[in-house]
Amino acid sequence: MSKDGQLLVVALGGNAIQKPGERGTAEEQRSNIMTACRHLASLMERGYRLVLTHGNGPQVGSILLQNESARDLVPPMPLDVCGAQSQGLIGYMFQQSLSQALRERGIHTPVVTVVTQVRVSAEDPDFLDPSKPIGPFYEEEEAQVLVREKGLVVKEDAGRGWRRVVPSPDPIGIVERGPIRQLVDGGSVVIASGGGGVPVVEGPGGEMEGIEAVIDKDLAGECLARDVDADGFMILTDVEGVAVDYGTPMQRFLDRMTASEAGAYDAEGHFREGSMGPKVRAGIRFVRSGPGRWAIIAGLDHAEEAVMGGAGTRLEAD
Ligand code: ADP
Ligand code: MG
Repeated sequence: MSKDGQLLVVALGGNAIQKPGERGTAEEQRSNIMTACRHLASLMERGYRLVLTHGNGPQVGSILLQNESARDLVPPMPLDVCGAQSQGLIGYMFQQSLSQALRERGIHTPVVTVVTQVRVSAEDPDFLDPSKPIGPFYEEEEAQVLVREKGLVVKEDAGRGWRRVVPSPDPIGIVERGPIRQLVDGGSVVIASGGGGVPVVEGPGGEMEGIEAVIDKDLAGECLARDVDADGFMILTDVEGVAVDYGTPMQRFLDRMTASEAGAYDAEGHFREGSMGPKVRAGIRFVRSGPGRWAIIAGLDHAEEAVMGGAGTRLEAD
């Protein structure tokens, strides 16, 4: 496996920023991000070039709650603006931490964040039956007020209370792909498409309108990987890899699978919606998008071994 100059898009999961049980203070987030950045810096030390993307669930959730709580003092911002805000705050922390982790290794590559819009289709089927829960939990009565007064869609979330749900449309393309490629070609590490990017629909005159939806960050990361012509797509999460029969006594983690094998396991229902499902589907799309392209789904703590083939689940074209 030659690595010199190989370009990797790395998608970081929620655990790279906030761990379960944490309140999400700035100190906690900085410390988690620093740990993640040490792994990323060791990949770069081995000769890989990186483009990063990341989740934003807890962070945009906090921003929505802040907007909600202060609504009588400051006008609340819509979801697309809150998403852009989360890209900035998370990107800023990664810029500082990754630059620091690289400096510790004598590497002086610039790190820059691009606030990213991702195009979706106004005809996406998910608009008809929104599926992605976001923001705070409500009592049933409060939830019904949101429906009546603001026309929001709410659903009961697994016995934990009521939540707003928004569509999760499929990404079509990265609006800022040109400038992102220029930055990558110029030698920068680029952080882009955070939280799946801000979903936008293109109007008849080419204008982009932000919409109230959330794109899956792994599917958007795959779009980004194609757009920057990456060699590899790495999804780093909080499990060691992809398992069949996950969470049952038969559970078995896989070292590798072809795109067709992965598709067959997916059809048999081995990968949960909203978590492992979109990761595997993103991996399948990427390895099928061009010759020699590979994808890895692995634990963040084992990023270095994973890229050498010693950890995680590797996806290859048939
Ligand atoms: P991230 O924030 O990294 O995107 P997710 O929670 O969305 O993390 O996805 C990772 C989770 O996927 C794991 O913690 C695991 O519980 C779940 N999961 C569902 N199906 C599988 C599977 N077949 N193999 C491994 N993990 C799975
Ligand atoms: Mg996820």
